[in-house]
Amino acid sequence: MNTDTKITFPSLGLNRSLLRALDQRGYTDPSPIQAGAIPTLLEGRDLIGCAQTGTGKTAAFALPILQRLGKRTRQRTRGAPRALVLTPTRELALQVEENFSYYGQHTDLRHVVIYGGVGQQPQVRGLRAGVDVVVATPGRLLDLFEQGHLSFEAVEIFVLDEADRMLDMGFAPDVKRILAQLPAPRQSMLFSATMPAPIRRLAETFMDSPELVEVTPAASTAEKINQQVRHVEREDKHRLLVHTLDEHADHQVLVFSRTKHGADRLVKKLGRDGIDSAAIHGGKSQGARQRALEGFKQKQTRILIATDIAARGIDVRGIGLVINFELPNEPESYVHRIGRTARAGAEGLAISFCDSSERAYLVSIERLIRRTIPVHGSHPFAVVPSGPIETRKPRSNGNRNPHHRSGRPQSRRGPGRGGRRRGPGSERTSRSRA
Ligand code: AMP
Repeated sequence: MNTDTKITFPSLGLNRSLLRALDQRGYTDPSPIQAGAIPTLLEGRDLIGCAQTGTGKTAAFALPILQRLGKRTRQRTRGAPRALVLTPTRELALQVEENFSYYGQHTDLRHVVIYGGVGQQPQVRGLRAGVDVVVATPGRLLDLFEQGHLSFEAVEIFVLDEADRMLDMGFAPDVKRILAQLPAPRQSMLFSATMPAPIRRLAETFMDSPELVEVTPAASTAEKINQQVRHVEREDKHRLLVHTLDEHADHQVLVFSRTKHGADRLVKKLGRDGIDSAAIHGGKSQGARQRALEGFKQKQTRILIATDIAARGIDVRGIGLVINFELPNEPESYVHRIGRTARAGAEGLAISFCDSSERAYLVSIERLIRRTIPVHGSHPFAVVPSGPIETRKPRSNGNRNPHHRSGRPQSRRGPGRGGRRRGPGSERTSRSRA
């Protein structure tokens, strides 16, 4: 986390109460997104931050917001926050609010987090008690607004966090409705790991000459992450998972499953093998998700099985290994997934299982990250991928299951079809042909 000329938190213009909190947190140097964004934001200018989770982007917007709100220009009003942060998921909302609490511990600012799936009364009480910052998911926020528990009229600062995921999850109409309520003038920020055209168009509708801060080229994979792919037959994946978990017995592991049912099935099957794990996905109650996440954070659970949406924004220090039990059909999700490890400078490992039906996904991922992922061929279930890769290009959205694409089971084996088994000790780089 260093840059050529030494940039420090004090040199960014942060005040003493924030510097104290940063010191307590043990952060010595600003991350690149923090160094790039904080001075602009302290000036009150609009900003687009192209940065994925794991780069320190939350502090990049939370610190200047806390500082600017600290210069109290108006009294705190019930139900009328001065800063509004929108996030796509509840987990991310909770994490962002935790960041505000931590960095703001030496200020008198109040924050409330708002998300669905739980009773609204505590949230309403928080708003009524007077609030400076609201961190919210769009649906519940609009509910509370429509019921008259919340007003947008005092909003001076607005943040749209993880804008790409927000649109992917279908929140564009809600976001637009909220934007239509926000007063002007105000400061606006947008953060997104990727910057496709719909995001740029959206930004144009509500931002005023935003400064662009891009810490890594869109969709580039964190350099510190050690990545590998393990080719395997689909029916051997579970045994490969058990083997891989055993190989990395001292790591906290986040395993990605493409579907909710798949995640639950993995927890059950691992349980039968005597391996404890927990699942986190959108089909679980908010309480169950929080418990699973807490158990993982506190290291009571070593293995967390997650779907893409539930895992979005999970900020758990010390995830040593991310396993893609299935490759994602959206290549961008690969970048988000592996970004869960190697957080803020730590080293991490990402292992992807790839069966014969997923090779086209691998090709798309390698194309997106502009590198080939080294193949680890010395595991007991290794196969050599061979034969043509299905030419139908995986779509970048939708929820198709690649195992069903050809309309027949994918348990093919042998040269020219699924692949042949590979002996231990062989390591090579995967081919990336289309
Ligand atoms: P974020 O991208 O905001 O989710 O942050 C990713 C992780 O980096 C979180 O665990 C932060 O607490 C941590 N972090 C943020 N800023 C710094 C920093 N300047 N130095 C070290 N760690 C940081």
